Amino acid sequence: MDKLTVRDVDFRGKRVLVRVDFNVPLDGDTITDTTRIRAAFPTLRHILRCKPQALILMSHLGRPNGEPVPSMSLAPVAPALAHLLGNDVAFSPDCIGIDAERAINAMPTGGVILLENTRFHPGETKNDPTFAAKLAQHGDVFVNDAFGTAHRAHASNVGVAAHLPAVAGLLLQNEINYLATALEDPKRPFVAILGGAKVSGKIDVIDALLRKVDKLLVGGGMANTFFAAQGREMADSLVETDALDTARSMLNAAGAKLVLPLDQRIADSFRNDAAQQLAPASADVPPGWQSLDIGPATIDNFAQEIAGAKTVVWNGPMGVFEMPNFAVGTTGVARAVAEATAQGATTIIGGGDSAAAVEQAGLSAQMSHISTGGGASLELLEGKALPGIEALAER
Ligand code: AMP
Repeated sequence: MDKLTVRDVDFRGKRVLVRVDFNVPLDGDTITDTTRIRAAFPTLRHILRCKPQALILMSHLGRPNGEPVPSMSLAPVAPALAHLLGNDVAFSPDCIGIDAERAINAMPTGGVILLENTRFHPGETKNDPTFAAKLAQHGDVFVNDAFGTAHRAHASNVGVAAHLPAVAGLLLQNEINYLATALEDPKRPFVAILGGAKVSGKIDVIDALLRKVDKLLVGGGMANTFFAAQGREMADSLVETDALDTARSMLNAAGAKLVLPLDQRIADSFRNDAAQQLAPASADVPPGWQSLDIGPATIDNFAQEIAGAKTVVWNGPMGVFEMPNFAVGTTGVARAVAEATAQGATTIIGGGDSAAAVEQAGLSAQMSHISTGGGASLELLEGKALPGIEALAER
């Protein structure tokens, strides 16, 4: 990794401003999943061990569109963080201005404070230099550990880096190591698995992966568009008609590298308790039916490809995994990937739905790496430079 990290800095006696990703799911004041909070602990604990003057944390939560929205306040995160980290954590009701200064000045030496949602100010997502300068005033050094927003150029991850020495946190470093560095020269065979709803949002990642992988296994709704491009009747299945030409040229360019399902689980409506049948890929989907999952022959075929791999990357569910009856394909692939890890393969799960599916299957601990960022992990896989990483100091 060519960027400086927290391991390169002496934080003793410094005010350390850290951009974390505490964009947690909330049900009222209750945090329903603390994964993102805990993901920042390696960095926070490392800095605290260095005896800083203060640890000042900033994050966004949700999309409040530049104004205070009480339901998107980070206030409930401060006590949760204090409890999980085993440290007192103060809270500032604003991330800049007199309130923030007062709250920061009232902290004891070595204290931790969480600032209110940076997106309560319009300057955050506009990367406004004045707003960024005000945030930067809180610290002597800046650490970016928010991988989930690394693909956005905002004030709290990119703007502040113009004012302070800026380094990567350990979470960010780990994400880069798995999603970029490891894939520059992957151990082969390298198998990628793509799923999810649409081809259109993933054209760049399909292109980039086709250039690198030995096999690209395609499932989920995305496969329907490829089938339709081959002329198969998909009836009520999710098909992107405006992506058919793109899908056709990808199929032509990829040849045998791109592996489509052998069979699909089809349903007579978009419901968990819909009537279901197995449909071979060689036959049209009957009128009134739709494909909602991959079938057992596909799970076996994908599992065989995965078992032979030394590097596996997976993004996107194999079906409508939110409905238990159509989560079978996704769970089957998750098991195959877990098995590959046990056999010594490096297995990398893109963020978002695939991470949720692996968690749902209880297999999170059996993957080499689960990314904390959906959009950011896709962009890294596409080989793009992420602004939140670019802004950090070079080694
Ligand atoms: P994405 O954000 O593109 O990764 O898509 C994830 C979503 O794709 C999930 O909500 C799945 O329910 C949905 N999905 C996966 N397979 C299908 C399918 N065969 N038909 C409709 N939706 C699907």
